[in-house]
This record gives sequence, structure tokens and C-alpha cells, in this order.
Amino acid sequence: MKNCVWCQRPVTSGVTLAAMWRWAPLPSPNLCAVCQKRLRPLHAPQCPRCGRQQSTTKVCHDCERWGDSWVNHAIFPYDATLKAYMQQYKFQGDYRLRLVMQPYLRQALAQERYDVLVPIPVTAETWLTRGFNQVTGWLTDQPFQQVLTVDAARKPRPQSSKTRQERLQSPQPFSLQPGATKLLRNQHVLLLDDVYTTGRTLRHAATQIYLGGAKAVTSLTLAR
Ligand SMILES: [Zn+2]
Ligand SMILES: [Zn+2]
Repeated sequence: MKNCVWCQRPVTSGVTLAAMWRWAPLPSPNLCAVCQKRLRPLHAPQCPRCGRQQSTTKVCHDCERWGDSWVNHAIFPYDATLKAYMQQYKFQGDYRLRLVMQPYLRQALAQERYDVLVPIPVTAETWLTRGFNQVTGWLTDQPFQQVLTVDAARKPRPQSSKTRQERLQSPQPFSLQPGATKLLRNQHVLLLDDVYTTGRTLRHAATQIYLGGAKAVTSLTLAR
């Protein structure tokens, strides 16, 4: 019998009648029923710009303060479940947990319209310590282009250690890989990241992508 990649409980196979009736994204074959139930996707009403779950369909205060027309789609609210997931996957480096999100990412990407998928990169330092990019770990056979590099010295400290103001003022950490413009010119680029917090990281990335000649840049994040 297979065990759940997240909690190690045995996974019982077979779709229950209850699962057929309730709306759910593609069931993940690597998750037990308990863990699948813990993962509750974002639902309406949401901010039409950043995807935040809220009580109205108005543009949220954070997006209003940005004053731009950025569009981000997210899959899950960044709640206790998602924080626990990210802690184990990203910070404890449990690479098996990429399997938890692969079906959700597959479904979400199938609903996006884009020409080029660009994951937010990790620093060289993270490669050495964690050994993987948490974002590309969620991809299976979806093509992507790693056109961005990130400068470790300019990479913001962990978001939690900063005030919102400090995060918003963080300097541009990204640059374009040589040859990126060939891939980006006149393309609609979809950026992929783990969590939309302030939106600062994605906008920094988009600035560089636009300099590379892209005609549009939007984003998809696992959580908001
Ligand atoms: Zn489980
Ligand atoms: Zn918003």
C-alpha cells in the first residue's frame, strides 16, 4: 500500500461517492484523504488583481496602493496549512513534498493563457543548501524558460524579518540571462512563484522581463 507523501498515512485508493460530489481540483494520488481535505483552494469573492480571498470583489487595499494593473492568480490561501507545507518543503528541504502540489499546478497552468513560463529563480546559495528550486519542483512536463538570475547579495532577507515598508523598498535582485530577449520578445510571460506576499518580487521580475521585450507579464502563485 502507498503512503501519503505528506503525513505518511496509508493512501486508500478509489474515489468515494463523497469525493465525486464535492467540487475538488484533480485529486492528488500522492495524498491521503485527510491531507487533500486540508488543502482548500481559494474561492470567491477574491481581489480581481492579486487573487486574495476577501469579502468583496473590489480591488484590495494592497493592490490599490500599487496603483498598477498587475494580475496574479493564486491557488491556495496562505493559511496555516500552506505555511506548514512551505516550512517542510522549502525550509526543511523535503523534496518529496513537490508531489503534493504537482496536480494542483498542472490544473492551474492549464487555465492560464501565456506563451512563456518563467519560474522565479533561487540564489546560488540556496542551490547549495536546499539543492532545488521549490517552484520548478511543482512542474512535471510543462516547458519553462529560466531567463532570470537572482543576485544573492540583493536578495531580500526572509520576508518575515522585514516590515512591509522595507520589503517594498528592496532593490532589484534580478537580471536577464544572456539571450533572454530572443525568448521574450513579443511574448506573454507567466511568472511562477510560491507565495504572493507584497507583490514586490514579482514586479521586480516583471521589470526585467519587460526590458527583455515581453508584451505582457502576469503571474501565478501557489498561495496568496
Ligand atoms: Zn496525508
Ligand atoms: Zn489585491
